[in-house]
This record gives sequence, C-alpha cells and structure tokens, in this order.
Amino acid sequence: MAGFVGCDETIERLYFYLDGELTEVRRQEIALHLDLCGPCVGAYGFESELRKVIANRCRDRVPDALVARVADALREEHGRQGG
Ligand SMILES: [Zn+2]
Repeated sequence: MAGFVGCDETIERLYFYLDGELTEVRRQEIALHLDLCGPCVGAYGFESELRKVIANRCRDRVPDALVARVADALREEHGRQGG
C-alpha cells in the first residue's frame, strides 16, 4: 500500500518518478504527496520543465552535478516556504 512520504524523500525520488523508474507503489506515494503538498507540486513542475529542456537539448542523462545542484536549490526553496 502507498504511504505518506516526507518532502525530502519526495524531492529525492522526483528524478526517478520523472524517469519512470519507480515501482507502482512508489509512484503512488509520490503522487499522493504531490496531492497534499503545494511546495512539492511547485518543485515537481519545475523539475518537469527542466527535464523537457534538457531532453530537447541533449537527449542524454542529466549530469550528476546538475542534478545535485537542482536538488540543493529545490531543498532551499522548499525550506523557505516552510514545508
Ligand atoms: Zn512536500
């Protein structure tokens, strides 16, 4: 069964969610969290857009360094909104 996951976990799993690399249960957990948590929906939208841009530009895996930087930025943004 899907359970409620925290913001940190959601953001960490966002990449896998977008890549379709999660199991059905994991995806449900993320979807449930996105339903209930406004700031994470914003992070999801941002990440989604970023993926599109990157996919259009190089059709390759996102460099780890970029992923790490985006994750840091999202966490910072998220913290500021009090999530
Ligand atoms: Zn959240």
